[in-house]
Amino acid sequence: MGALSSLGLLAGVGVAGAGLAAGGCVYAALWPGSRFFGAALVAPPRPGELALTFDDGPNPAWTPRLLELLAAHDIRATFFLLGSHAHAAPDLVRRIVAAGHLIGNHSWDHPNLALTPRARIHQELRHTSECLEQITGRPVRYFRPPFGARRPAVLQAARELGLLPVLWNAMTSDWSEPSARRIAGRLTEKIDRLARRGRAANIVLHDGGHLDRGAYRAPSLSAAAILAAHYQATRRFVTVDAWESNL
Ligand SMILES: [Zn+2]
Repeated sequence: MGALSSLGLLAGVGVAGAGLAAGGCVYAALWPGSRFFGAALVAPPRPGELALTFDDGPNPAWTPRLLELLAAHDIRATFFLLGSHAHAAPDLVRRIVAAGHLIGNHSWDHPNLALTPRARIHQELRHTSECLEQITGRPVRYFRPPFGARRPAVLQAARELGLLPVLWNAMTSDWSEPSARRIAGRLTEKIDRLARRGRAANIVLHDGGHLDRGAYRAPSLSAAAILAAHYQATRRFVTVDAWESNL
């Protein structure tokens, strides 16, 4: 981050952002809760609901175990897939969908879209949606920008492709935390705080890794199991499409 990212973001800011200082633009583009650049789905005022979302897969080493875990708890989740990983594991993508989970577009290979030229942004999103639609035979509606980075060019490309951006409101560094208990503990604090404020939780965990298609994800999966057991009796687990009408 720093001067370079500020320039990259400013280059994409239109009339609505012209009055903001560079710092304001960085905030608006990178802060998950920000709605400055247009409609994005986070979580509605339904404190009884949780959405488990998994990013950066599919991961041939860990996604199959995650599917077993979710089936054991009868939970449907949302998977934001990288096009490049999906292209390499189409059968796994079909298994995710066949199990009743929702899939979304997480770009082709996870660039920071706040710093990516406009033409490449469009290509990343379109290529991924086309790949997922070819594999599953179903249209792709949801898109999570890598790193949460948004700017008008990203949202415009998403709109042109009929994609709705989806952010989050409960995340911790699960990809680098070896303790499942600590991951689950931090997320539980956030989920409970959101509920006290009357808000559903849109929870991010990672079953994949954008730098490593077979990234080690045991702690993230175990954390998902802890959350599933902890909230199963008191909350409803939903996929993010359940919330689109609340936008
Ligand atoms: Zn990601």
